[in-house]
Amino acid sequence: MTLQGHHLIGFQSLAGPAGISAINPASGETLDPQYPMAGQAEAERACRLAEDAFPAYRRLPPTERAAFLEAMADNIDALGDTLTERAIAETGLPRARLEGERGRTCGQLRLFAEVLRRGDYLDIRIDNALPDRQPMPRSALTQRQVPMGPVAVFGASNFPLAFSVAGGDTAAALAAGCPVIVKAHSAHPGTSELVGRAIQQAAQTCEMPEGVFSLLYGSGVELGQALVKDPRIQAVGFTGSRSGGTALLRSAQARPQPIPVYAEMSSINPVLLLPQQLEAKAETLADAFVGSLTMGAGQFCTNPGLILALSGAALERFVEQAGHSVRDADPQVMLTPGIHAAYEQGVARLGEQAGVTRVAQGKTSDGLACACQPHLYRTTAATFLDDASLHDEVFGACALIVECDSPEQMQQVLAGLEGQLTATVHLEDADHELAERLLPLLERRAGRLLFNGWPTGVEVCHSMVHGGPWPSTSDSRTTSVGSAAIQRFLRPVCYQDMPEALAPDSLKADNPLGLNRQVDGKR
Ligand code: NAP
Repeated sequence: MTLQGHHLIGFQSLAGPAGISAINPASGETLDPQYPMAGQAEAERACRLAEDAFPAYRRLPPTERAAFLEAMADNIDALGDTLTERAIAETGLPRARLEGERGRTCGQLRLFAEVLRRGDYLDIRIDNALPDRQPMPRSALTQRQVPMGPVAVFGASNFPLAFSVAGGDTAAALAAGCPVIVKAHSAHPGTSELVGRAIQQAAQTCEMPEGVFSLLYGSGVELGQALVKDPRIQAVGFTGSRSGGTALLRSAQARPQPIPVYAEMSSINPVLLLPQQLEAKAETLADAFVGSLTMGAGQFCTNPGLILALSGAALERFVEQAGHSVRDADPQVMLTPGIHAAYEQGVARLGEQAGVTRVAQGKTSDGLACACQPHLYRTTAATFLDDASLHDEVFGACALIVECDSPEQMQQVLAGLEGQLTATVHLEDADHELAERLLPLLERRAGRLLFNGWPTGVEVCHSMVHGGPWPSTSDSRTTSVGSAAIQRFLRPVCYQDMPEALAPDSLKADNPLGLNRQVDGKR
């Protein structure tokens, strides 16, 4: 497939004045073609089409939406090496990582197809009428979930496939019955176009209403804000910086009709090494930690950026071994010159902080552009508690070890943390008593709790929660990964005494869809 450098608006492919070029972060080379910059006019056109498509799209039987999602996955798979090679050139990510990410992206689309066919997501509730109830009769009441309306999705820089054009938010919104307009991330426009065309083609083959999907290129401040402020947009999905997410949230709240913004922003993902496990496995834990820290140059929202442990000989063994592993770690290309510059500033800032010592840094790069040299620092809990800036994410392969004097001080550090996507506990049986004390705090702070594992790597399944309290996300009640993500683009509607002839199939008395429904409080 030849890249054209066009916006995809509904079934159209539209040129515009050029403004965006991808840059190969490994070589600094500018990649063809140039991409146009959308503004108000393109946003208006895509929003109008999305709004026009919504009534027909939301009414489609879920099985037809399922077939559309599967056709998207098939088309993305069929892009083969063309997609992988363009994504390598635009992001510097290794082939194996991108192939895995494609598998995950298509897997997520197919998982939502299954969810649609099963129908549980509609969460049907039926309370039959109680005409003889005293002192008041009860009406017949039913409830189902309906799609919210057109959704704007911002592609993320660090997952050019799984959190981008056909990523989790797009898949969840389309599954829910919401048309989607994607603002492509300017770092990977060619990858975005390839995936966008695969979706556009699937929409045409499956005879979806035009406007169910559009893909626009442009700046966040102009195009991104125009989309979020458009009255037809009913929800927003975003992954990126805290400043970007916060700006979108403010714009969404300032609208005459405020709308939800599901923004995933920053997380340092604390890892607790409990004493008995640390004593037994300090060196093994250190090697595994550095493997997780340096994976993908640390450009994961779930990167383990904070280690908490009690002071003592076992912690010193861990620090020594982790230091060796970090010093042995090769530099890796970061996604963009901007992300690389922010990383360099972040590690330099940490290094200058009073009370913080550098344990180790990775190998220097030999002329590799945008190279991430891993960094490991340590400090005491007292310093960490005193200095809020030490809680900030340094996006990349950088972590801070915080040494606690006592279990109580560890609790204090946890209580002072911001919201997190994940929290990890390394423990053995003899640590359970301490773990029990820490668990309620961890549940308040994080969306996913891991035991004896590492937070990088997010399974796409039914029970996954990839979300958490502010600022890891702007709304801790939902997830951006896994089948539960469909709920963020649905809302409940209750019907009171609705004539049977008007009831949708999901609510009809004889249950023609064979759904698992809750009737009078029972399943
Ligand atoms: P970003 O700067 O937040 O950009 C993400 C998207 O949001 C881009 O499309 C951007 O548009 C748009 N945007 C940014 N500010 C906006 C605003 N005020 N109004 C409307 N749209 C706006 O994130 P990034 O480019 O991916 O990376 C920058 C930093 O974000 C990284 O260094 C890292 O600190 C953080 N980050 C964190 C995670 C995580 O998962 N925790 C993931 C990725 C990045 P433009 O095209 O105009 O830039």
